[in-house]
Amino acid sequence: MAVARMNVNCSIQSSLSCILKPSSFFSFRTAHFKNRLYLPQNNFVSPKRSLLCTCSSNSNQANASQTGEKAEAFVITTPLYYVNAPPHMGSAYTTIAADAIARFQRLSGKKVIFNTGTDEHGEKIATAASAAGSSPREHCDVISQAYKMLWKDLDIAYDKFIRTTDPKHEAIVKEFYSRVLANDDIYRADYEGLYCVNCEEYKDEKELLENNCCPTHLKPCVPRKEDNYFFALSKYQKSLEEILAQNPDFVQPSYRLNEVQSWIKNGLRDFSISRAAVDWGIPVPNDNKQTIYVWFDALLGYISALLEDKDQPNLQTAVSLGWPASLHLIGKDILRFHAVYWPAMLLSAGLSLPKMVFCHGFLTKDGLKMGKSLGNTIEPNELVHKFGADAVRYFFLREVEFGNDGDYSEDRFINIVNAHLANTIGNLLNRTLGLLKKNCQSTLVVDSTIAAEGKEFKDTVEKLVEKARFHYENLSLSSACEAVLEIGNAGNLYMDKHQPWSLFKQGGDAAEAAAKDLVIILETMRIIAIALSPVAPNLCRRIHSQLGYSEDQLDNLNWSETKWGGLKGGQVMAHPQPVFARIEQIKEDDNDGAESPKKAVKKKDKKKKVQGVIEA
Ligand SMILES: [Zn+2]
Repeated sequence: MAVARMNVNCSIQSSLSCILKPSSFFSFRTAHFKNRLYLPQNNFVSPKRSLLCTCSSNSNQANASQTGEKAEAFVITTPLYYVNAPPHMGSAYTTIAADAIARFQRLSGKKVIFNTGTDEHGEKIATAASAAGSSPREHCDVISQAYKMLWKDLDIAYDKFIRTTDPKHEAIVKEFYSRVLANDDIYRADYEGLYCVNCEEYKDEKELLENNCCPTHLKPCVPRKEDNYFFALSKYQKSLEEILAQNPDFVQPSYRLNEVQSWIKNGLRDFSISRAAVDWGIPVPNDNKQTIYVWFDALLGYISALLEDKDQPNLQTAVSLGWPASLHLIGKDILRFHAVYWPAMLLSAGLSLPKMVFCHGFLTKDGLKMGKSLGNTIEPNELVHKFGADAVRYFFLREVEFGNDGDYSEDRFINIVNAHLANTIGNLLNRTLGLLKKNCQSTLVVDSTIAAEGKEFKDTVEKLVEKARFHYENLSLSSACEAVLEIGNAGNLYMDKHQPWSLFKQGGDAAEAAAKDLVIILETMRIIAIALSPVAPNLCRRIHSQLGYSEDQLDNLNWSETKWGGLKGGQVMAHPQPVFARIEQIKEDDNDGAESPKKAVKKKDKKKKVQGVIEA
């Protein structure tokens, strides 16, 4: 079990350092958790260890799996997506980012558990189901399946997919509820307030816009009066303030922390965690007339996801399998739930807090906020079918600085993907392999180490790959992509400077030098294919197999292999084939012979159509 290594997981990165000082949790937990239940000691973070940062250097981590040492755990989550509608680009974006981070951590030798899933209870789901003429259960099955299919199309390699309608999840929610109840943090009260059905949340009048409109949904909130169960969030105000003060990296990026601190400072109010009027939910233990509030239910998916079907569905087992999470990735709209409600709930139940909540921004399209009513949404299914997973993943991770808002436009998408993936990387590989085939029977003449002897180029590549690693560790995904692309640029410059094609023509020593130059470029491609694999996994697989590697070798890559020297003399390369086809933009009327006046107008508009990408 990974438990023994979970105590102080300084996994995210050395520069963000040890994220949370466990001693603080320990004291809060004991203070709040009166009827303390038994949990194995190693689920609690030892206060002693908090004094020591056990962050090891990257090379140690990367080599851990090779030396047989137990790999450090890294547990990453996406939100559980609400199944009121099919997956949208925002969910796809979070999941792509989570997948890239998970892949990087696996490459670095960590034992990664990547959790995602769907949030399937609540009033909105019941309404969406009845609008579609199906039962809530059928509706959830369909939408949940749509998520799984999209993740497959986007090459998302998750480890766990939890549905909140899963019986093991229900068992966890009920046990958790009972713990919080046993800790005197749940009470019953009447509540009257303004309710946003879309947020499934009572709102504070101060937060609302004109006509009591919800600032997120821009729809009026409705007055509601209910007899509900409440969670005593206000009790945790001081604890949360202290935790955030002591662990400023708990919420990232840092400006989000300020936001959270100001919410807390303004005073935390108890919130209702049950609904009397919603049938589609998990019944409150000992009160079948009420169901558990959808957020209180869904957040526990992060823990229930850890269970296998064969496991006993209880908190102790689930926690032992990988709690606390190393990283919750979320969109900025659900920050309050993750940085205020969730930690307080965990404190109440005597469980450790996740190590970090990272909040990314929103996407816009052509500079405008997307909306169904505006008809300008980005459809992730459409995008991936048109351009392929590598292009979609690369564009959003490269173009959007992770944490900030980002914009999509088709022109920009095509330009970036063509310039970076088809030209800088794909074309460099293709022309080098072409030259090798023509002049060296597709066989490397020497080891890449020998080929690079005395050349500065090798140092340049090694520096850039280390830069990429640093940025991945720090969740700066865009900068990581940029560093890998710089390696490609350096390779292209090297080719243009040395011009091996003319050296081959000269013969003798010149031809020998040219053959070495090709080894250097192909070694560079090998390194790029590892370093970019978290972002564009399929493209990188194609590069690797062009370099003559087998599927088996590809499945067992490790970041430490980005070190110069992998390619050996005598290694035979595959027949050169494009690894990434350019996306062609064609004018709609390019294929037409005769021109009608209408078409001439169209031509002026320069309306473009995109030809599908055929990935080699
Ligand atoms: Zn709302």
